[in-house]
Amino acid sequence: MKDLPDNALRGLGVSDGVAIGPAHVVEGGMDRVREFRISSGRVPMEIQRFRDAKATAARQLEHLREQSRRIGGGAGEEMDYLLSAHASMLAGSRLIRGVEQRITDRMINAEAAVQREISAIVRQFRALSDPYLAARGDDVRDLGRRLIRALGGERTEPFANIAVGSIVVAREITPADTAAMAPNQVAGMAAEIGGADGHTAIMARGLGLPAVLGVPDLVATIRQGDQVILDGMAGVVIVRPDKATVEAYRRQRSSLLRRRRALAKLTDLPSETRDGVAIHLQANVELPIEAEQALGFGAEGIGLLRSEFQFMAAETEPDEDSQYEQLAGIVQSMNGRPVTIRTLDVGFDKLPPSMVEGLPPGDNPALGLRAIRLSLLRPALLDTQLAAILRAGMHGPVRILLPMITSVSEITAVRAALLRVARKLKRRGVAVPDPLPPLGVMIEVPAAALSADALARACDFFSIGTNDLTMYTLALDRTNEQVASLYDPLHPGVLRLMQFAVAAALRAGIPVNVCGEMAGDPRFAPLLVGLGIRDLSMAVGSIPLVKQRIRRLDTIAAAEHADMVMAQTDPARSAELLDAIS
Ligand code: PEP
Ligand code: MG
Repeated sequence: MKDLPDNALRGLGVSDGVAIGPAHVVEGGMDRVREFRISSGRVPMEIQRFRDAKATAARQLEHLREQSRRIGGGAGEEMDYLLSAHASMLAGSRLIRGVEQRITDRMINAEAAVQREISAIVRQFRALSDPYLAARGDDVRDLGRRLIRALGGERTEPFANIAVGSIVVAREITPADTAAMAPNQVAGMAAEIGGADGHTAIMARGLGLPAVLGVPDLVATIRQGDQVILDGMAGVVIVRPDKATVEAYRRQRSSLLRRRRALAKLTDLPSETRDGVAIHLQANVELPIEAEQALGFGAEGIGLLRSEFQFMAAETEPDEDSQYEQLAGIVQSMNGRPVTIRTLDVGFDKLPPSMVEGLPPGDNPALGLRAIRLSLLRPALLDTQLAAILRAGMHGPVRILLPMITSVSEITAVRAALLRVARKLKRRGVAVPDPLPPLGVMIEVPAAALSADALARACDFFSIGTNDLTMYTLALDRTNEQVASLYDPLHPGVLRLMQFAVAAALRAGIPVNVCGEMAGDPRFAPLLVGLGIRDLSMAVGSIPLVKQRIRRLDTIAAAEHADMVMAQTDPARSAELLDAIS
């Protein structure tokens, strides 16, 4: 590793590339409301508006407390405790006094006053550097969001007014924040929280934005507008660099761009091994903008469309027509190439604004009401989504993929819903594909991999999600920077589950692909091909790199290498073996 200047902060390089630009520091992650001045005559009205919002928020909290008492048990008690803390903060606390004072003294709208007051309180809590108080800061922020929602205030795009070429710096950048970043405006991003395979990191890679996550003390070190260099490969953030350092990184950025341009020449070449075996490369899509780029990067289809984007951007749950329109647009744009649409995978690190209220976090959100579990609990949500997918399927070939499956009964339930929804649509005179689209499952939970034989009989294809499979197998949170160094898909436990699932799919004669981040890392291509996988789905920008690797492979040699890797007990040794393959 090269010597770094003193003003360099280290974190996890999660999305390759070099960005140089002014820092846009997002205080408290709430940079979402517009601030404007009000006349002095309007101040009393603005204070009344704030008090009405406070009353609404108090009523909502009371209602939620009643619900949590009905849930009962440890989770109910915990929720009730949290909600009562929020309720008492509303009752004449420093927060309330502070907001009213800001409206009066600064003559600003109530939403902005709430945002500013929350940021100030969170900053004070953080300065005490006590983990317990830092967590209370999160409570204050949650309450602030509730108040802003109750004010019904005008929301702006969070990054709409930042200088072009800025580097977004925050304590936390959520997937929803990332979805709001325009790649032609934001040059890169850095945050104190986050792991390499969390959805924020995945979205940064999908958008081609250099990103460094898990950087301690980031927000305290960087001031608004400071010049910053971000090295997304090395995981380094350099604050207020000197001229020579900026020059060196400019050269590095140019040579990276040259390498990318050279790789683009591979776009029209087939993705096949030296011995002529086709390895199909498809795109993972988190946002419509990536679908637009997929064909340009040579994708043979969309192997994973994460439908969450439709929910993340909206304040209310999108209805069937708006889901259909977006999906149909993407299916059409692929000109007859297949599109695998995954049903909603929210919960854990993805929480659309419209679902924040209905999805209590619980102690372990990754083990809670996530993905298919939520869809099955809310049949109207699932039916609406299935109807939109079926209608979009009239514009090109689609497949339906179910996230976080653990049991055959979940597939059976969705298949029944699919038939019911198709019948209903036909009764409405709406055309649906005949036959119905294939119904596949993600293999991303150890239970699914271990019961792959049974699942393979109940569904039409498998897609291996190595991100969650690694997380759930190794009991390591993929979004937690503190355990990032332990998170390793080459762990023999993960590889054996994958091997078992692939073998079950091949025995049952159903297609199997890998759509986790492992598929987009060229180092792993010999292993995946050697295990018998012929379909990979990845971030659009990774397609040329993986193709380059595939074109140098021989499937017989890859199978031998895979055998060698499968015989290892130490993931570090497996990595060395893979790196040594020419
Ligand atoms: C995975 O878990 O590997 C996967 C592809 O799904 P996601 O990253 O959306 O959880
Ligand atoms: Mg997953």
